[in-house]
Amino acid sequence: MNEFPFASALPDMAMPAAISPRGMASLSFLFQLERSQWWPPERLRHGQQAQLRRLLAHADAHVPFWRGRLRPLIDAPQGEAFWARWRELPPLTRRQIQDAGDALISPAMPEGHGDLSEIFTSGSTGQPIRAVRSELWELLWSAFTVREHLWHARDLSAKLAVIRYSDKGKALWPDGKRYDSWGFSTGDIFKTGPCVSLNITTPIERQLDWLEREAPDYLLTHPTLLDRLLRASGDFRPARLKQVLTISEILAPGLRALCRERWGVPVIDTYSTRECGYLAFQCPEHAHYHLQAESALIEIVDESGAAVPSGAIGRVLVTPLHNLAMPLLRYDLGDYAQTGDGACSCGRGLPVITSILGRRQNLLRLPDGGERWPLLSSGDIGALMAVAPIRHYQVAQTALDRIELRLQTARPLTEVESAKVLDWARVKFGAGFHFDLAFPAELERSAAGKFEDFVSLL
Ligand SMILES: [Zn+2]
Repeated sequence: MNEFPFASALPDMAMPAAISPRGMASLSFLFQLERSQWWPPERLRHGQQAQLRRLLAHADAHVPFWRGRLRPLIDAPQGEAFWARWRELPPLTRRQIQDAGDALISPAMPEGHGDLSEIFTSGSTGQPIRAVRSELWELLWSAFTVREHLWHARDLSAKLAVIRYSDKGKALWPDGKRYDSWGFSTGDIFKTGPCVSLNITTPIERQLDWLEREAPDYLLTHPTLLDRLLRASGDFRPARLKQVLTISEILAPGLRALCRERWGVPVIDTYSTRECGYLAFQCPEHAHYHLQAESALIEIVDESGAAVPSGAIGRVLVTPLHNLAMPLLRYDLGDYAQTGDGACSCGRGLPVITSILGRRQNLLRLPDGGERWPLLSSGDIGALMAVAPIRHYQVAQTALDRIELRLQTARPLTEVESAKVLDWARVKFGAGFHFDLAFPAELERSAAGKFEDFVSLL
């Protein structure tokens, strides 16, 4: 740790540091978040309702898409009566957001929310949407970024390595790209160590070479890439590594254990989306997640829209509480998650989810009409790689009774190996399917760098 971990914007101020205006604003949110995380669930719900009412009043007054639809909610009495009406509001679909266009954007903003900026995101659905956010919303994003570092007690003066999506031709092997700090969110408040970044398209052996040379303390990357790194690393173990931070994809069952076994470090996973911000952080003491209730109202619901009971799986509906520029109410992300059962022993009142299960397109449809989450565990993947020299794979359901195994292999497979791969698939997915082998030259990640090892084309 630095002698003075705070970043002073004034050279003649060392203790206490004079934080930059942006850092001060972020710290003022953090100071409150440090307290609200311990509030009991009822107090958090009360705070959510207070903030939600302000969002609804703004949306009703200024956002054409919502005008006239929110009156019953705005007029609802405080407390449970409000939540009962809230649950009658139909979920907002990605398709509706696409069709609404500018009608979801607020032409006028209240004082203090700053300039608006826009991003485009396609998620993993291939349905691009435009998301507009305010400067104030981005400031909150920064505060939550720092909260996650603090939860996991990171040494901010250490070196962070990032392997994720970079623009084409940027952050290339062998050097990658170097930064003096971990980014503005953390760097506005703390003196951080350096950050180094490598393009996700780098071949896996070269990624390992880069990790060996850089010897980072923390690695941030996608779960599917971590899985490939761990399997390709042989006896190599990043010498100084303390944690691996995973983002933006589903964390497969068994990956935490594999990372512990091969590299001796824990995986810390984060659940976020570009259009809604941070949704859940991993608990500092457990492998499950705490919903970021001060940032978004997150509901886990069944097909009728009612909240699922503890321990059950349901669709994720998100209402970001502070983005007045583009109010999204009960937005159906397309993700599924499993709720926790009861309070967390860490003492935080933030609600718990035990796992995130991905999108409907990651759901296997069975020929008999059923459905199943086909999450490939580390054991499944290990068994597949034991029968053939497979470098990269993807499983695609191409018809109700047909599954295609897309493989990149070190060399053409022998007949025996091909037969064993098909046997593996029959054991994993069931004998009711026909299996095809395909050997495409490339297995593409989405524009945002996401990769899914199981996709349904139905
Ligand atoms: Zn906890």
